[in-house]
Amino acid sequence: MSHEGIRFVSENEASKATAQQQELPRGAIDPQRVRVNKTEGTGVEIDWKDGHASHWTFAWLRDACPCATCIEEREVSGLEPGQPKPQPPTALPMFKAPVRPKEVRPVGRYAISFDWNDGHTSGIYSWHYLRSMCQCETCRTEAARSAAKS
Ligand SMILES: [Zn+2]
Ligand SMILES: [Zn+2]
Repeated sequence: MSHEGIRFVSENEASKATAQQQELPRGAIDPQRVRVNKTEGTGVEIDWKDGHASHWTFAWLRDACPCATCIEEREVSGLEPGQPKPQPPTALPMFKAPVRPKEVRPVGRYAISFDWNDGHTSGIYSWHYLRSMCQCETCRTEAARSAAKS
């Protein structure tokens, strides 16, 4: 048996991959109801089949964009998904329109994608990604606890 072509991942990379692919029960990543409050500008609400409910603001979702470019940008600047980019202190205050999607599109049956009003469109937000990024009190406490453990 040849071992050629096996890619060795560092332990760090491997644990990152496991964290991203954490097992979630089917009902946890199946949305019962999805509401995109585009007009109100209040964000996205999902009721999951397991009875859990999640809510994200548009600003959070934009800063958690899962496209390759945004992931790389966050890695370079050490930001967590959903964490806003720090503004340089010397920058003149600039008017920034609140983040909103111009369009929301379903991607197959597993994800949604947004055309943001800043022109960015490449992020595909899978149900799994969204559920694993649930921002409710319970999930955030749980995430902080497991982060402290590792
Ligand atoms: Zn992106
Ligand atoms: Zn939650």
